[in-house]
Amino acid sequence: MTESKFAVIGLGRFGMAIAQTLSQRGAQVLAIDNREEKVEEIKDEVAYAVCLDSTDAKALKAQNIKDMDAVVVAIGENFEALLLTTVLLKELEVKRIVVRASGKHQVQILEKLGIEEILSPENRVGIAIAEQLLNPSIVTSLQLPDNYEIVEIKTPKELTNRTLTEIGLRAKYNLNLITLKREFQIKKNGVMDTETHILGVPSSETVLYDSDTIIVFGKSKDIERFIEINQ
Ligand code: ATP
Repeated sequence: MTESKFAVIGLGRFGMAIAQTLSQRGAQVLAIDNREEKVEEIKDEVAYAVCLDSTDAKALKAQNIKDMDAVVVAIGENFEALLLTTVLLKELEVKRIVVRASGKHQVQILEKLGIEEILSPENRVGIAIAEQLLNPSIVTSLQLPDNYEIVEIKTPKELTNRTLTEIGLRAKYNLNLITLKREFQIKKNGVMDTETHILGVPSSETVLYDSDTIIVFGKSKDIERFIEINQ
């Protein structure tokens, strides 16, 4: 497989994290910011780090931005710069443009520009926090299209010491158990320590323990029902 090539424009905390993660996973990353100190900060962690103003069409073009598999626009506060950069990327016929937006209005404007991949990190974090406040048993959740969700839930007391067949997640609750996280007591250098591991693909005979965390997939309403019944 050829190495994927990505550009990340705007190296605030958000853009920086995206650029670092892509690079750690083996992608070739071009990191761009108009502040020299940001470029300096990341230069040893990515393939290329360049200081330029992304609203400058010539400067962008000179970076062969068109050849990227995807370009992430992670400029935060300066919406005008974000918009202009996005328009330039469209003009340069970049294959895949992912843009960060804050708030409903920015999302609407970007949608009108024909941007299909819009990231609204504040929104996502907000929804996840609200969900955890409402359901303390939810550790994390990933909202999917069509009202589906993947959630990580502390195993409800009611279900412990029973096999998956006995619990009947699919039959009774319409949910699929993807996997589970289990705590193991391990002796290291004479000291007992707790390590958490994924238990692989569970079988129908797998028994759930009190300290397990289960990762389930299903419709949001079925997940809510499952939590309510077993609270
Ligand atoms: P975060 O919320 O991700 O921490 P932040 O609040 O630092 O980000 P901003 O400073 O608004 O967000 O923008 C993110 C980055 O985008 C900054 O490092 C900024 O220098 C960079 N940036 C802003 N405008 C441009 C531009 N025209 N060209 C290149 N980079 C830009």
